[in-house]
Amino acid sequence: MTEDLEEKLYRDYPTLYRNRQQTLMIEGVACGDGWCRLIDTMSFLLSKHDQKIRAEQVKEKLGALNFYVQFGDKYSTGITMLAYTISQVTCEICGAPGVRYEHKGWLTTRCACHRPSHEIKEIDVDCSSVDDLELGFGWALLVKILLESAKWHTEHNAMPAATINVKKVDGQLLVEFVGGNEMTRGMIDFINHYAQRIDEHSGQPAE
Ligand SMILES: [Zn+2]
Repeated sequence: MTEDLEEKLYRDYPTLYRNRQQTLMIEGVACGDGWCRLIDTMSFLLSKHDQKIRAEQVKEKLGALNFYVQFGDKYSTGITMLAYTISQVTCEICGAPGVRYEHKGWLTTRCACHRPSHEIKEIDVDCSSVDDLELGFGWALLVKILLESAKWHTEHNAMPAATINVKKVDGQLLVEFVGGNEMTRGMIDFINHYAQRIDEHSGQPAE
């Protein structure tokens, strides 16, 4: 990540990024700038939730954003897990909607502009059937991932089932839920905050 963006994260969230010399944060934020909004949204919510939480390592691995923390809980897991899944459809270079590619044995997540120039094998296309939610493509994609993730964690990870309602209020995405647990709350807080930074229709960074 560009040094300016990295320094800003450390300045804005000093408790989350404390004692970096004693953790794998000594290697810095090891991913492209396209994921800076995912990281900033996580940092904001984790810092607000509990000042004890500390970032241990932030890095790209297999085309996805891995954000490891110490002193986390179910709420922080909901946040980092959902951001991990959304990173798999977010270009690591520019933040636009993308897909994962295999390039010479490496997995990368890229938009159409930044896709590797040769030896491409597309392995995931996760942007289909998002137009039945009456939202623009960008937000519909986020909501689709939220709903699929919540379903998966209910079926495989003992997360209590939740009823999730999606609406727009004053031009903002508002996802609400009944049931679930703290992990569900982390996932939904993440979606509501991250959507504010993503254009509803194009899915491009909104700022
Ligand atoms: Zn891109």
